Amino acid sequence: MNKEFWPDGKSFAFTIIDDTDKSTLENAPIIYNYLYSKGILTTKSVWVRDGKKSEEYESVIGTTLIDKEYTNWVKSLQDKGFEICLHSMTWSASTRNQIVDGFNFFESLFGKSKVLVQHNDIVANESIYWGSRRLVFPLNYVFEIISLFSSNIPNSHIYQGENTDSIYFWGDICKEKVEFIRNLVFPSINLFNITPNVIHKRSRTKFVNNWFISCEAPDVTSFVKLLSNENIEKLLNENGLCIVYTHFGKDFVENGILKESFKIAIDNLVNKNGWFVPASEIFEHLENKFNGIKKLTYLEELQLSWKWLKWKLFHGTS
Ligand SMILES: [Zn+2]
Repeated sequence: MNKEFWPDGKSFAFTIIDDTDKSTLENAPIIYNYLYSKGILTTKSVWVRDGKKSEEYESVIGTTLIDKEYTNWVKSLQDKGFEICLHSMTWSASTRNQIVDGFNFFESLFGKSKVLVQHNDIVANESIYWGSRRLVFPLNYVFEIISLFSSNIPNSHIYQGENTDSIYFWGDICKEKVEFIRNLVFPSINLFNITPNVIHKRSRTKFVNNWFISCEAPDVTSFVKLLSNENIEKLLNENGLCIVYTHFGKDFVENGILKESFKIAIDNLVNKNGWFVPASEIFEHLENKFNGIKKLTYLEELQLSWKWLKWKLFHGTS
């Protein structure tokens, strides 16, 4: 992009979407206090209720809006200018009725969840157009074949959000309530180098209004690596866009102490001339600049699918 692309004379845009896995009142406020003190406003996801408490969810379970003290803290974040959005309804599957209740509860507290990031259960669940349906033909079939041989990629039939015969169907609700859903992630600091259509529509996903791509950094180590000085210089020089998808619950804070490497990365970032606002504010700006949100052609979807699959095969996590 050129120098005039971003508002207020800013050279690039940067935000973070925080997947709420493992987030609690012990770790999350320390991180958000730091971001706020540096003038960085981002997007935090939340769960509306507790899910199943069995062992296989141990690595993701975090605090939910059932906890009053946590909810008050999340409210205070919104008051400061952070964006609050849904991370599905909880860490395990939700039926249509639970989804309806979840939206009502969320909206009564925070208003609309313009953005939604899906938390994908490992058994039958409500995730919409997930698994192989994140990709177009023929790469969707390639993905399905890979999943047959991989122990950590579930079979795509478990994702049923768009299936009108399923108890997990919520496509119509999604269309009505959510503007943007996250799809593919890439190990790139500047998403414009992946595609100018960072937000876009897809032809065969009628229940989702818009999709977006983001930058892969699932934990503190990859986050700090992504925000290396070299990468931030590149983002600045290219007038780029970085939307980091991460889990602040994963080792950013240990024993009540925020990782020094995270602080250094953030301090370096804020010294540059960036626009540090929540995701949906950036999406709104992109929509205005591009006069709407483009529906990708089959070829564009194929290219995007291929870039992701190629990378996922060798490195990716989500
Ligand atoms: Zn998650």
